Amino acid sequence: MNSYGIRGMIEDHNIRILACDSKDIVTYAQKIHDTFPTATAALGRVMSISALMAMDIKESDEKIQVQIDGHGPIGQIFVEAKSSGDIKGYVSDPSIYLKYNDSNKLAVGLAVGTDGYLKVSRFSGLTEPFSSQVALQTGEIGDDFAYYFAMSEQVPSLVSVGVLVDVDHTPKAAGALIAELLPGHTEEDIEYLEAIQKKMRPISSLLSEGLTIEEIVKMYFSDVKILKRQELRYHCDCNEERFLRGLMTLKKEDLDEILEDEEIVIKCEFCDKIYRFKKDDIIAYQSHVQDR
Ligand SMILES: [Zn+2]
Repeated sequence: MNSYGIRGMIEDHNIRILACDSKDIVTYAQKIHDTFPTATAALGRVMSISALMAMDIKESDEKIQVQIDGHGPIGQIFVEAKSSGDIKGYVSDPSIYLKYNDSNKLAVGLAVGTDGYLKVSRFSGLTEPFSSQVALQTGEIGDDFAYYFAMSEQVPSLVSVGVLVDVDHTPKAAGALIAELLPGHTEEDIEYLEAIQKKMRPISSLLSEGLTIEEIVKMYFSDVKILKRQELRYHCDCNEERFLRGLMTLKKEDLDEILEDEEIVIKCEFCDKIYRFKKDDIIAYQSHVQDR
């Protein structure tokens, strides 16, 4: 089944819900990057929440980028999500497999670290990119995004995100849910959301039991009205031109150094596709750009 997200409203409690089943995109990312379980969980959690945040933007050419760096062994996590439902991402070190000794759970917080930040940049075709960032709280991703929504966007939210990894390292289930209180919410609405947060079981466990994301949302928010459903997919839109353009932004001495080799090989970090450029290709592109 393809990954998809839904958006809904609970009008009586001034709550908006975004939720997704992201198993398919996490599976794709695990396969192309060959991530080990803790790296799969960390990247999968960030991709799942980023996909929901991107569902919220209106223009079709808009996108968000999420960057997390907590100085843990995994290094940096980078994810881009478009309002069209296209998601891509990577981690610096995919070969991380750490568990907490006491619970035997994947130690995402240890892998990510807490000495760093979570940064969200929003791009629209019309205006300058807008970025905001917060300090990482636990590195467990869900907590860090909840803190981000509270601090940067001033919205109290419930964030649930999880990736369950099977013994053969493939994702067994993945999903995320964000419930946000809307402007005008009351003290009662806050209590309502807190009560649900207390009884909510991990979203990845519920999905692995065979429940759909709609069923999970309705189980906790019985009077939800679902307003939108959107397909999500792992998709990288890289091409030759993009990498050539990237080379042109290098300092002259760096580019000259690259040009000492007859051929340069660049790997796309998002989809692992290999691009090979001959020295002549780069020189030709350089003069083509200068002509314009
Ligand atoms: Zn690519």
